[in-house]
Amino acid sequence: MRSRYSVFSLLANALTGQKGWTPAWRDAAPKPAYDVIVVGGGGHGLATAYYLAKEHGIRNVAVLEKGHIGSGNAGRNTTIIRSNYLLPGNEPFYEWSMKLWEGLEQDVNYNSMVSQRGVLNLYHSDAQRDAYARRGNSMRMAGADSELLDEAGVRAYAPFLNFDDARFPIKGGLLQRRGGTARHDAVVWGYARAADKLGVDIVQNCEVTGFIRENGVVVGVETTRGPIRAGKVGLAVAGSTSRLTRLLDLRLPIESHVLTAFVSEGLKPLVPGVVTFGAGHFYVSQSDKGGLVFGGDIDGYNSYAQRGNLPVVEDVCEAGMALMPQIGRLRVLRSWGGIMDMSMDGSPIIDVGPLPGLYLNCGWNYGGFKATPASGWCFAWTLAKDAPHALNAAYRLDRFRTGHMIDEKGVGAQPNLH
Ligand SMILES: Cc1cc2nc3c(=O)[nH]c(=O)nc-3n(C[C@H](O)[C@H](O)[C@H](O)COP(=O)(O)OP(=O)(O)OC[C@H]3O[C@@H](n4cnc5c(N)ncnc54)[C@H](O)[C@@H]3O)c2cc1C
Repeated sequence: MRSRYSVFSLLANALTGQKGWTPAWRDAAPKPAYDVIVVGGGGHGLATAYYLAKEHGIRNVAVLEKGHIGSGNAGRNTTIIRSNYLLPGNEPFYEWSMKLWEGLEQDVNYNSMVSQRGVLNLYHSDAQRDAYARRGNSMRMAGADSELLDEAGVRAYAPFLNFDDARFPIKGGLLQRRGGTARHDAVVWGYARAADKLGVDIVQNCEVTGFIRENGVVVGVETTRGPIRAGKVGLAVAGSTSRLTRLLDLRLPIESHVLTAFVSEGLKPLVPGVVTFGAGHFYVSQSDKGGLVFGGDIDGYNSYAQRGNLPVVEDVCEAGMALMPQIGRLRVLRSWGGIMDMSMDGSPIIDVGPLPGLYLNCGWNYGGFKATPASGWCFAWTLAKDAPHALNAAYRLDRFRTGHMIDEKGVGAQPNLH
């Protein structure tokens, strides 16, 4: 039985040689059958299992992960959380996610280092300012917070930016103070521990290699650890979605692309929150250890590789230098890549189907980390009730057939531009 983490358990273990800690979750072996199988032990899969057990009392659940939990995008992202969306299909969903982030650590009894240090999107032209004003108003209408800063406001918030001789002068920014960062691995571990405590089996090193179908209904999966039957099978495998649905002869409006992130050597505190460049693709925050964590665009071609290429390194560093020339002498410690499930309108899919017994959670583009709590919450609802919740009602797969797109960036069916 796992104890509750608290100041008392910390003290008790400190005084007894740290011998009282138990594993945070069981290393479960797969059972022959479950009520629900969730494929993918990233943040979304584990959050789904947790909310299935907690909110709907469905505890005969397995999360099947081909490697170790968090080894996909959940453990590779740049940890930004925010709810600064424009469109009505998106904003209430992401604001619900933000509210769940705000109570997450108490809910799952795990320190996920949720840090509401602010997210600032810079603007560099009058047109961009107007677009941000519109977005800020839309956020407020959905109950989120937003502040439109002028140049003086940005100078006060982030004085280290290049204001005086910049190629793209900074005119102001849209600030969401409740946005920020969370420790990505700790989010995975927190959901895993909480789900396990409610009886969910977390089965690692268990790759799904096929589906069991009877009379057209998905009734289980084939895995590297044998067949496992299930009443319902939910896919939450992010960039691997099209690989798995190919096994069912399904083609989805998803392309996989690689996205790279970088971390620098440690610095004294410099960047107060998350700052994004409005004249190129670059975003930066500073980890609690002092490293700058930054990234930019995806590589411009489809790939299932978990590492990027040099042209993107150059592109990201150029944008970074345009915004913060002082980082030119900073050493990059590491860079890594993850596989993005880019959808045709840049918005996700959380839906029943498209085959009986199958449920989809995918299309997160490069914004799925911030969605983790709401994605799990809504996917659990959809699995439990066989229908979407109002918050994910717009994230239906058939919107690509009916034309009800949620094109936040307005770039059309060009996944590499979302
Ligand atoms: C470099 C980078 C930076 C990012 N920055 C941000 C950010 O700052 N903010 C933000 O909101 N989002 C960000 N994202 C996006 C975010 O990380 C993803 O959208 C989100 O993590 C996807 O959901 P997930 O956590 O469940 O995916 P994953 O962690 O990828 O989970 C899917 C899991 O499925 C497993 N799997 C795959 N195939 C199989 C199979 N056949 N059988 C069993 N298991 C399988 C994988 O091993 C993996 O663990 C970033 C992504 C990357 C790569």
